[in-house]
Amino acid sequence: MTVFRIKKILREIPETVTVLAAAKGRRAAEIDEAVRAGVRVVGENYLQEAEQVRAEMNSSPAWHMIGHLQTNKVKKAVEMFDMIQTLDSLKLAEKIDKECAAIDKVMPVLVEVNCAREKQKSGIIPEKVIAFIAESAAFPRLSLQGIMTMGPLSEKEESIRPYFREMKKLFDAVKEEYRDRLSQWQYLSMGMSSSYRTAIDEGATMVRLGTVLFGPRG
Ligand SMILES: *Cc1c(COP(=O)(O)O)cnc(C)c1O
Repeated sequence: MTVFRIKKILREIPETVTVLAAAKGRRAAEIDEAVRAGVRVVGENYLQEAEQVRAEMNSSPAWHMIGHLQTNKVKKAVEMFDMIQTLDSLKLAEKIDKECAAIDKVMPVLVEVNCAREKQKSGIIPEKVIAFIAESAAFPRLSLQGIMTMGPLSEKEESIRPYFREMKKLFDAVKEEYRDRLSQWQYLSMGMSSSYRTAIDEGATMVRLGTVLFGPRG
């Protein structure tokens, strides 16, 4: 049943948009089902949880870190993940660079942008993104590949649209500004279960879906 529902959602999303299954709180068997239905990328918010479910899974999707990453967990994170979507400080960039150098890895990362400039949220505010990228692009073990953003909390789908539109503009502006240096700049990760249609409308190239794929969280 679940596989059928997930397949249906995947069919409705353009092939050019990567669907990430946001797997927090889900069991290994549920995530395996999503992969069987065609999901290729799984996102986790917590390292420990990611470790546990991975040990129990039969499939091997790509793993993206989508939760806040503390610098003391970076060593583990660079070993486990194929992408870190939550780069939100230079301190973190430096630490990722260092730990990647130690295991001879280049880590694809997305810059997390606080699109609604909410005080309680992590992420770089939009007006500081260009400068932040100029500095973090200097770390040789980081491959900057795009922007990740969470829409503002507790808003209706339509009211999120202007934020998504601004993120697309920012995404394009960075692409233009750093054309020569950021050859892998390609991901605009925005939109969750309640907002992914709007996000795709506004140019998202990756959506992060939990509830619509797996059902309500228990
Ligand atoms: C949980 C989560 C999602 C998905 O949320 P749903 O509303 O369940 O689709 C997307 N992005 C991040 C960072 C999340 O933590």
